[in-house]
Amino acid sequence: MVGNTPLVKLNKIPKEYGLECDIYAKCEFLNPGGSIKDRISLAMMKEAEDGGNVTKKTVFVEPTSGNTGIGVAFDAALMERKSIIITGEKNSDEKISTMRLLGAEVIQTKKSPIEIAHRIHDNDPENVIILNQFENPMNPRIHYETTGEEIIHALGDVDMVVMGVGTGGTLSGVGHRIKEHLPQCHVIVAEPDGSTLFNVDGKNHSYLVEGIGGSTAPIVLDKSVANGFEVVNDEEAFLMARKLSEKEGLLCGGSSGTAMAAAVKAAKRMNLGAGKRVVVVLTDGIRNYMTKFVCDQWMEAHLFLDPPIHTMKWWKDP
Ligand code: PMP
Repeated sequence: MVGNTPLVKLNKIPKEYGLECDIYAKCEFLNPGGSIKDRISLAMMKEAEDGGNVTKKTVFVEPTSGNTGIGVAFDAALMERKSIIITGEKNSDEKISTMRLLGAEVIQTKKSPIEIAHRIHDNDPENVIILNQFENPMNPRIHYETTGEEIIHALGDVDMVVMGVGTGGTLSGVGHRIKEHLPQCHVIVAEPDGSTLFNVDGKNHSYLVEGIGGSTAPIVLDKSVANGFEVVNDEEAFLMARKLSEKEGLLCGGSSGTAMAAAVKAAKRMNLGAGKRVVVVLTDGIRNYMTKFVCDQWMEAHLFLDPPIHTMKWWKDP
């Protein structure tokens, strides 16, 4: 069930923004654990198992913004192995509850999750395996072999692909596979406002969209494959994510909204006309964010939506 996700042509949003090009959504939120990270978790854990490194006592330890943690906990549960997931405080309770339900021990921390993972490893080096998506070559490789390949297989010709960057595994793998087949294709990064991974002259500040952006480039991120980036703020991202649900029936998360909003900006900037094809990667689903941007009151509290005006029929202005 991991991978081979559908590419769905958008019907309404491109028209709403006056775009004539075709936009296709790569629906990674339809993976069984709910995100694109199911691909890399399975690939990294299979590689560890095939290499003979997994025993009955193995504990998988992973620093993650959440989705890789769900993928690792999911596979560890099926393999009947222990998992410890270390994640930042920003990441949603929904992701943490899912990991716990799948049997993972979850550590939420203000400190560096990678540092804590190394400390746990040093305590029991024989049994602890850190898959480390930020450095593991299997991360970009599985996107090269599957995600990128699937896009080429489904569409043949593609003029632009747009995606967010967390570890950079998706960008590096998909970008290289697509460029190999279609050197003219534009690879565009969706950069959250506040991140300086690509927007190096921008201001580094916190933001609410989860799973993408940062200030230091991870080892698996090959920035050279990107042709450019578009900056998208939280409000644009969450409103677009909600629109993808409401208008297109694609129940995706905030970073998918960032990617879609970046695609609209880039398609306009590049004047992509009729017949041109854009692919947007929708990384995870709304169920990770039920108490966040999916909730009207949360949107109102963050001033991303106006509260509803309750008109009372019996009320007459004096
Ligand atoms: N969106 C979300 C919600 C994520 O969790 C991640 C992974 N951190 C990404 C996008 C980015 O994927 P990648 O790590 O392959 O750059």
